[in-house]
Amino acid sequence: MKHVHIAIVGGGMAGASAACFLAEKAGTGKHIALLERESQPGYHTTGRSAAMYTEVYGNDVIRALVRASRSFLETPAERYADHPLLTPRGALMVAAHGEGERLDAFMTEMNRPDVLSRVDAARCAEICPALRTDGLSGGVHEPMAMDIDVHSLLQGYIRVFRGLDGQIMTDTEVRAIDRSDDGFLINTAAGQIRAEVVVNAAGAWGDALGAMVGAAPVGLVPKRRTAVTFDATPGTDISGWPLTLDLSGAWYFKPDAGRILASPADETPSDPCDAQPDEMDIAICIDRIETATDLKVRRLASRWAGLRCFVDDHSPVNGFDDTVAGFYWLVGQGGYGIKTSPAMGRIAAAQIDGDKVPDDILDQGLDPASLAVARLR
Ligand SMILES: Cc1cc2nc3c(=O)[nH]c(=O)nc-3n(C[C@H](O)[C@H](O)[C@H](O)COP(=O)(O)OP(=O)(O)OC[C@H]3O[C@@H](n4cnc5c(N)ncnc54)[C@H](O)[C@@H]3O)c2cc1C
Repeated sequence: MKHVHIAIVGGGMAGASAACFLAEKAGTGKHIALLERESQPGYHTTGRSAAMYTEVYGNDVIRALVRASRSFLETPAERYADHPLLTPRGALMVAAHGEGERLDAFMTEMNRPDVLSRVDAARCAEICPALRTDGLSGGVHEPMAMDIDVHSLLQGYIRVFRGLDGQIMTDTEVRAIDRSDDGFLINTAAGQIRAEVVVNAAGAWGDALGAMVGAAPVGLVPKRRTAVTFDATPGTDISGWPLTLDLSGAWYFKPDAGRILASPADETPSDPCDAQPDEMDIAICIDRIETATDLKVRRLASRWAGLRCFVDDHSPVNGFDDTVAGFYWLVGQGGYGIKTSPAMGRIAAAQIDGDKVPDDILDQGLDPASLAVARLR
């Protein structure tokens, strides 16, 4: 039987970042195993994102975590990546006629005059020439929003973890966990593992994993989101277009590897599963994009869906369970788990090691209690 000190369940962005920072903190990953059901890390939600970094999306807890992650992503140490993980993209949120006041309210709520500017409909069309301006009241522009190189970020965490002798076990589904006085006996598809600490980074399966150790659910709701890619009109240079979003949350699109990536911004509750796109959501997406822009979707190059997972207050859950000793939750990243992974992974590493949350993260206005399991009980 294998024996480790820490078993991290889930090889997505959450589990990989925690593994990396835990190993770095200890100077070795010999005592840590990262257990992933699939044959490769990042197969589920992590591999299906829109890969955006924006500082004005999500609640104030999310926004603090994003700000705390920025310097890591912007100027990663060479061991994580040999190139910048962020590249300029910009974001433009637009609103229909009659919704101008909601744009103003958004500006007020975000309170980030340093990164946001209010723009009229004509300026929206300059920033994103595909937009139809009839019916548009204006927008909010965030020029410093950026694309994230998700693949390199995930591989960077994994490379550092491996380099410190961390053990990555793929094709290792956790099927049952028995608790005893001295920790956990984990039954996996690849045999039994004993561990003193279990980190729950199981994404959509978070509450199911919690149930294995007898922990009360945190109330995770996986919500399916659909994405498609298609070719822009031949001869159109789309490379400088921003992520363009509808204020009411009906659609968004952005350039992605020479094509357009679009989503109907759907949020359909789902059981944990290998999410697949629904034909109706794809049809809705195409209709909304063709109505809002002069883009024509002739043929889809790809389509997919992923599960964004939320608890009730839409903040993530970072912290030890309130009743099951040694069981650490790292779930509920919603639509923000890529860009918040540097801060969330470091918080997990600190707390699991018995330390307080690092000061530079607290300095962004984060209250660790807003991540704790206790707030959900
Ligand atoms: C369409 C879409 C757009 C998005 N856009 C963005 C964006 O622009 N920016 C951003 O920051 N975020 C975005 N997100 C959100 C982001 O992708 C997620 O928050 C993040 O990937 C969650 O990572 P995770 O590691 O928690 O989950 P996952 O990547 O799902 O990883 C969980 C892993 O746990 C494994 N697992 C579960 N149960 C077991 C078990 N019993 N045994 C072994 N392994 C198990 C699973 O196989 C899985 O690999 C988007 C998501 C979607 C779907």
